[in-house]
Amino acid sequence: MLYRSLETRIGLQGFVVPTSQVTIVVPVFNEAEGLPRFARELLATIDRIRDIAWTVLFVDDGSSDETRAAIRALNAGDGRFQGLALSRNFGKETAIAAGLRHARGDAVILMDGDLEHPPEVLASFIENWRAGYRIVFARRIDKETQSPLRRFYSQAFHRVFSAIAHPRIPAGAVDFLLMDRKAVDAMNQLGERTRFSKGLYAWIGFRSTTVPFLVGERHAGQSSWRFRSLARFALDGIVSFSSVPLKVWSYLGLLISVLAILYGVLFVIRTLLFGADVPGFPTLVVSIMIFSGVQLISLGVLGEYVARIYDEVKGRPLFLVEETIGGTAEPQSEPHIRRIA
Ligand code: UDP
Ligand code: MG
Repeated sequence: MLYRSLETRIGLQGFVVPTSQVTIVVPVFNEAEGLPRFARELLATIDRIRDIAWTVLFVDDGSSDETRAAIRALNAGDGRFQGLALSRNFGKETAIAAGLRHARGDAVILMDGDLEHPPEVLASFIENWRAGYRIVFARRIDKETQSPLRRFYSQAFHRVFSAIAHPRIPAGAVDFLLMDRKAVDAMNQLGERTRFSKGLYAWIGFRSTTVPFLVGERHAGQSSWRFRSLARFALDGIVSFSSVPLKVWSYLGLLISVLAILYGVLFVIRTLLFGADVPGFPTLVVSIMIFSGVQLISLGVLGEYVARIYDEVKGRPLFLVEETIGGTAEPQSEPHIRRIA
């Protein structure tokens, strides 16, 4: 602490330029292979940015490989590398939440540990932060590294999300951004369990700007997302930020009921005029199928929301820390605890 407060620079005109503290939070899951290279390239970049005391906080999200040992080795070589090991794999969103809660400093930068988020962007993060923006998003401008299916999928998601959910996510936004202390504190106050960070960054507000970046090559290992978890993630995003899926069924139900009544009236008139033609069986089957379909879908939608309510009500901690590597163990802010009266 004393060391940090002494770490100031005498400016050219003789006045003291205070050093800001910035923590870089990096969620890592089975990234042992690529971590040393990531650390090397990160250091090369941050050492060129002046007047900042850096901390790099790796959040080991329950890796099953040697990731934790790799973090320890980095910490032994340079105390600025610190780590937080969660007790199991909680998923990237939760690892981010853990990192934000433990990160110190005047600003926090969030980035992936696989070099897909190029460290050079950090310089423009800091520049914009110094210019007064509280959040600086990085927006990916090429998507060539993704498979066409994944690209289609993320574009479709963005379109649906911005059509029906409340906060607008900047198009192409990823979990690569700088947040000022105020924004980090705001994020830490959000106690929800089903976390969809991209929506939350937008939800908290604050003055923000966007800088473009070219996606780097994943240098080792492989992306840990599978189609199913992506689908899950997209659903979480929509359900956390929109109640449209909950409401749309009543309109659809109303429309179908009106049509059914009209059809019934038509049927009565026809029977009165031309007499009953017995069959009608297909109509019956088709209508029963349509209605049970609609009912099942709407039940499913209700279930999605109810499941989340259940999850929130249980009030379990969001994550559990097994070990801290370097740095201090206490979180920067206390978790938000829900009490159900
Ligand atoms: N990650 C994590 N927990 C997980 C999955 C991923 O902390 O359960 C980390 C991973 O180590 C990487 C970042 O999140 O630093 C992005 O993951 P990945 O590269 O697999 O995703 P993609 O880049 O394909 O979105
Ligand atoms: Mg990646």
